[in-house]
Amino acid sequence: MAAFLSGCSSDDQSEPLRKISTPEPYILSQTDTPASAAEPEALPAEGKIIALTFDDGPNTTCTPKVLDVLEKYGIKASFFVIGDNIDEDTAGMMIRAHNMGCEINNHSKTHSYMNKMDEEDIKSELDYTSKLIEEYVGEKPKFFRPPYIAVSSEMYKATDLPFICGKGCNDWEESVSAKERADRVLAQAEDGDIILLHDSEFNDKTVEALDTIIPALRERGFSFVTVSELFAAKGVTPDGGSEILYSNCMQQ
Ligand SMILES: [Zn+2]
Repeated sequence: MAAFLSGCSSDDQSEPLRKISTPEPYILSQTDTPASAAEPEALPAEGKIIALTFDDGPNTTCTPKVLDVLEKYGIKASFFVIGDNIDEDTAGMMIRAHNMGCEINNHSKTHSYMNKMDEEDIKSELDYTSKLIEEYVGEKPKFFRPPYIAVSSEMYKATDLPFICGKGCNDWEESVSAKERADRVLAQAEDGDIILLHDSEFNDKTVEALDTIIPALRERGFSFVTVSELFAAKGVTPDGGSEILYSNCMQQ
């Protein structure tokens, strides 16, 4: 599992992911549906949820295209933004996303290897971006995704925000085609998952892949929710106090 790790362009220094236990099927609502005699034997799985997430924005080249696709399908996602990318122009993308029901989360200020920083620098990276997010969208970020998925105990100590990883498809590599991106996401997707994609500048292949990924997951019975909604729907309180890097909201 987790053959395609996340983490932007880097030689992968990430910690090994904690093993994710196979979740029990989750039924959002099993009431009020009268059983029909004509019910087919193989029902599509119901109540599966998944959170699409996008790193490294905001920008005016890719973020609006991702939002257009989300809008076309009427779904929400979560964006993990880099503080240094936020200016008067790009902030409009965050505001648009927020108005669509998307969630804006923290992906540091400078996108550096924060596992090499001391606690003071880590806090300043996080605070800078959290303040800008709150200023523009009126809501504090609820989650943090470490750049390059590089973590340290100092980082976990420096913030109460839960750490989010996700299942990726190396979509920061230009050589990975849109079809490969979609295939990799679809091969891994499970109930409760966080999918890690990038709305980095000019990342058109991921925009293209979404047109395969979204309908295919829908076909398989998935609904698309924000990261906060994912935890809430599964009755899980994300743990910001321990060193968990979540790729599925039900992992321990
Ligand atoms: Zn990143």
